Amino acid sequence: RICYVNGQFVSESNANISIFDRGFLFADSVYEVNLVLHKALIDSQGHLTRLAYSLNEVGIPMPMPQDELMAIQRAIIEKNQLVHGAIYLQVTRGQDADRDFLPSKTIQPNVVIIPQPKNLLENPLADLGIRVMAFPEIRWAKRNIKSTGLLGAVLAKQAAVDNGFDDAWFIEAGLVTEGSANNAFIIKGNRLITKAPNAQILNGITRRAILTMATTHGLTLEERDFSLDEAKSADEAFVTSATMLVIPVIQIDETIIGDGKPGALTKQMRQIYLDTGLNHQLP
Ligand code: PLP
Repeated sequence: RICYVNGQFVSESNANISIFDRGFLFADSVYEVNLVLHKALIDSQGHLTRLAYSLNEVGIPMPMPQDELMAIQRAIIEKNQLVHGAIYLQVTRGQDADRDFLPSKTIQPNVVIIPQPKNLLENPLADLGIRVMAFPEIRWAKRNIKSTGLLGAVLAKQAAVDNGFDDAWFIEAGLVTEGSANNAFIIKGNRLITKAPNAQILNGITRRAILTMATTHGLTLEERDFSLDEAKSADEAFVTSATMLVIPVIQIDETIIGDGKPGALTKQMRQIYLDTGLNHQLP
């Protein structure tokens, strides 16, 4: 097959995308599948319009005008002598030098177009019909799996930064779930409060280590839901993750937490985590 990758028509064995591509790392990409019958693109205007819509929704620039994309798809049909089948088109936000939730300002979209020859006209199921099983709507609802489907987190973090913040906390029905890529904690008096792990959050490894340490250092543990309002009136707040360790939260929306400086207990948590973490490395 001849495929299209970023301005080049190449054989499929030479059609490569970087491991730093954000489509691969974060599912930070959108796509279309266009039906081809008798060498003609069917409903192609509808697919290109929806592509433009999807790109706009996630803030990826349209990589080229629609008529150019149309021309490339037609060239793919010609070069592959594609009679019946589909054309798969994917646009990713592009790639940077390293994996980072926030893309650089100069990032350029990656565009991939793949022909899929298939005799879609002679489908036996058209005569037989299909059987379907009812299934819970789980899409984007299994956050306990450390999935690379991170587009939601990417959009939240970008919105936060665009509005002058450092990160986002997700709110669901008025309750704090977690950060874009970290777990959320608040402290009230000597009570350490964080959401109990369920499918609504990723059960962080750092989170669990902090909970174990906190109880041995005199904090009372409350693993329960807490609201955004409760968080805003907390004495201290912080987030945890493998790469942030423990990072204080000093402001939520326009509300200053405590005196607007990293809290004493939070700083202690970070220090204890460092100390015990380093101890874990000892043989
Ligand atoms: N929550 C989310 C959504 C995350 O992506 C992460 C880490 O990437 C965490 C929490 C923290 O988990 P851990 O402490 O295992 O790094």
